[in-house]
Amino acid sequence: MVAVASSCASVSSGWPAHRAGAVLTIDLAAIAANYRLLDARTPGAVCAAVVKADAYGLGAAQVAPVLEQAGARHFFVAHVDEGLALRQWVSPAAHITVLHGARPEAVEDCVQAGLRPVLNSLEQISQLQELAKKLGRPLDAALQLDTGMSRFGLSGQDVHTLVQEPHRLDGLTLSLIMSHLACSDTPANPANAAQLQTLRAYAAQLPKAPLSLAASSGIFLGQAFHQNLVRPGAALYGIAPNTYGPNPLASVVKLRAHILQIRHLSKGERVGYGLTWQADGPRRVATIATGYADGFARQGAEKGCAWFKGQRLPVLGRISMDSMTVDISAIPEGQIAADDRVDLLTDTYGVDAVAAAEGTIGYEVLTSLGRRYHRIYKNTQQNI
Ligand SMILES: *Cc1c(COP(=O)(O)O)cnc(C)c1O
Repeated sequence: MVAVASSCASVSSGWPAHRAGAVLTIDLAAIAANYRLLDARTPGAVCAAVVKADAYGLGAAQVAPVLEQAGARHFFVAHVDEGLALRQWVSPAAHITVLHGARPEAVEDCVQAGLRPVLNSLEQISQLQELAKKLGRPLDAALQLDTGMSRFGLSGQDVHTLVQEPHRLDGLTLSLIMSHLACSDTPANPANAAQLQTLRAYAAQLPKAPLSLAASSGIFLGQAFHQNLVRPGAALYGIAPNTYGPNPLASVVKLRAHILQIRHLSKGERVGYGLTWQADGPRRVATIATGYADGFARQGAEKGCAWFKGQRLPVLGRISMDSMTVDISAIPEGQIAADDRVDLLTDTYGVDAVAAAEGTIGYEVLTSLGRRYHRIYKNTQQNI
C-alpha cells in the first residue's frame, strides 16, 4: 500500500469535540513556517526556539517536534521540569537551556538530564562548579548578564567580581552569554542600543562565548541585535513582534465556541452578573460556551466580540466563568441558532486583537487559553 502524504492531516486531543465548549485549532505548519521565516531573517545567527510554558500554552509535546523538524536545534524553557519533559519530545541531540537555571537541590537533575542551566547569579555559578568537582568533569552552562532590565542575571558588580576572580568559572564551559531586552517592541527606545552596548562591554571582559540578546521583537531591530543566537518564542506562535508594521508571521490559532442558547430581549431587559448591560430596544442575544476560565478576561469585556460569518458580535455585560453573552441582532433571524459555532479567534482577529480589547498583550491571551478546549492539531505530518 502506498502511503499518501496528506496536506491537512490533523490529530485531536483534549475533550471530545461534541462534549467541549469550544474547539481550539493549532496550525503546526504555520509554526514551522514562522520558525523558517525567523531563521531566514537572522542569517548570521543560530535561531533557537522558546517553548516555555508548554509552548506558550499550545502544547510543547506537539510543537517542539515540529520546530525540530523545521530546523531548530536549540530550545529554551523556563524551569528544570519543563526541560525534563521536553527531553522526551525532541531528539537526544537537541540542546535544551533552562532560563531560570536550577535551584540548588535540582542542579544535579538538570545536568544529568543533559539540560544546560542559565547561571543568573554568583551563587548559581558556585553551585554548578561544586557539581562539576563532584562529577569530575567540566559542565556546560549559559551565563546571563543583567544589562538593564533588573530581572535576571549578573549585575555589573557581579561581572566585576568574576573578572577579578576568574577561578570562579573553573570547571565550567560557558557555551552562551546572554541578556534580555526590556524595550525591543519599541525600536526608537535608546535602551535597546544601550543594552547591546553593555552586553558587549561585559562580554569583552569574560571568557569568549557566543552571545545572545534578541527574543522575537529583538530580531526585528536589525542585525546588530542578532549576535550569535536569537531566542524567539511569541513570534513562532504568530504574535506580532511590534505594533508599527504589519505582522509578518502566520496566524497559528483559531477558536470556535458553541452557542448554548439564544434569547430575545425586550427594551429594558438586562444581561449578566451585576445586570450591567441593558437593552435599549428589542435584541437577540446568544450565550456562548467560553468564559474567563477559558482565558477570556472579564476586563475589557465591553470591547470584546465574537464573529459569525464575518459579522462582529459584541460582548454584552460581564463575562462569566464558563460563558459570555453576545449580541446577534445583526444576523438575520433563522440564520443563526443554538448549537451553531461562533469564532473567537480567527486569522484576522487573533490573540493580539483580543489583547487590545482586554488591555493586555497577545502573550497573556495566548498563554491563558484554557485547558478544557477540544484541541485540533492541524498539519501534523506533511513536509513541515
Ligand atoms: C520568554 C523569553 C524569550 C522569548 O521571548 P519572546 O518575546 O516570546 O520571543 C527569550 N528570552 C528570554 C530570557 C525569555 O524569558
